Order: sequence, then structure tokens, then C-alpha cells
Amino acid sequence: MSNLLDRLNFLAPKEKFSNGHGVTTNENRGWEDAYRKRWQHDKIVRSTHGVNCTGSCSWKIYVKGGIVTWETQQTDYPRTRPDLPNHEPRGCARGASYSWYMYSANRVKHPLIRSRLVKLWRDARVMREPVAAWEYIQQNEEARKSYQEVRGHGGFVRADWDEVNEIIAAANAYTAKTYGPDRIFGFSPIPAMSMVSYAAGSRY
Ligand code: SF4
Repeated sequence: MSNLLDRLNFLAPKEKFSNGHGVTTNENRGWEDAYRKRWQHDKIVRSTHGVNCTGSCSWKIYVKGGIVTWETQQTDYPRTRPDLPNHEPRGCARGASYSWYMYSANRVKHPLIRSRLVKLWRDARVMREPVAAWEYIQQNEEARKSYQEVRGHGGFVRADWDEVNEIIAAANAYTAKTYGPDRIFGFSPIPAMSMVSYAAGSRY
């Protein structure tokens, strides 16, 4: 039957029960399949998230046709010690919604860099090796301020990985050379509070 005729059934007399508190309807409920399909999957895999955290919570990822459809927390962590409570479930709201922004049109897909900085960099790089180019920018107070003072104001442009990797490497080498290697460190934000957090820094 067409949906229109189904909808007209709404007007047909209904069988009542429970002294009229309930009615039996006979309408088309095909639309509910949209909700069922939302949760369908053909396999479950184990994974985590790489979202500037330690990426160490374990998740069940439900996949349909190669697309991540949803996720739930794994609950099979080994016990740390008998006298400690277990740490399940583990995972944050950001992780639980990860599949939503994995396919989001707003997802950042390319490195971005503040335009003022990249202009300075490209100019400095024409005549200098990478570390010397970064040093040149850092030692020029006016140049350094020109991009630092606009932090928080946007102004990012797309860059490529080769260029940003070179800038990152040059900046690190310059800092180690000028202030000492202990000024470079990775910081583990620890929403997951895991052993991985202590072992590996993941945020510069
Ligand atoms: S802290 Fe959140 S985003 Fe990071 S791995 Fe755990 S659940 Fe995923």
C-alpha cells in the first residue's frame, strides 16, 4: 500500500483495549527502519582515537560497508591490582562522538599555518638553511611579534606537510641549540589516565 493510503488509515476506527486507554493501530511503520539501519554493522573492530589525546582507550568500532557507524567502550581491560577498582568504562565524550566528525565536512584535512608566519618563513628561507631561517625570524623582534600578536584571530592558510615538517624541525633544532634540549618535550594530556600516557608524550 502507498504511504498516503497508509496514512489515511489513521482515520479508520481503532480497536481499543484496557478500557480505552490503549488503541491498536495498523499503520505503516516502515520509517522506523531508518533508525534500525543507523545501528546496523557488519563487523566490530578494536581501535582508539587520534585526537590530540593519548589515544589509548580501547573501543569497539562498528563498521558497515567500510564506514564507521558508531562506537562503544571496550570493557575487557586487565585488572591493575586486586585492591583497586577497575577503570571501566574508559573513554570520553569526544571519543564517543568521534565517528561523527571523522566524516564531517568541517574536519581539518590539511596542515594549516598562520599566513603571517608562512610569509616570513618563505622570505627567510630563500637565502637560508631551515634552522638559520627560523633563527632569523626569532631574532627579529618585530617579525616575531607580527605573527605572535595575532594568535587567536584566525588567519590560517593551507600548507603542505613538507613545509610544515621543515618548520617544526627547524624550530625544534633552534630551541635545542639556543635554550637546551630539555626545553623540548611532549606533554601527555591524560583524559585516559593510562600507562601509555606516562610512557609517550603525544602533544607538543
Ligand atoms: S581520551 Fe577520549 S578521545 Fe582519547 S582515546 Fe580515550 S575516548 Fe578516545
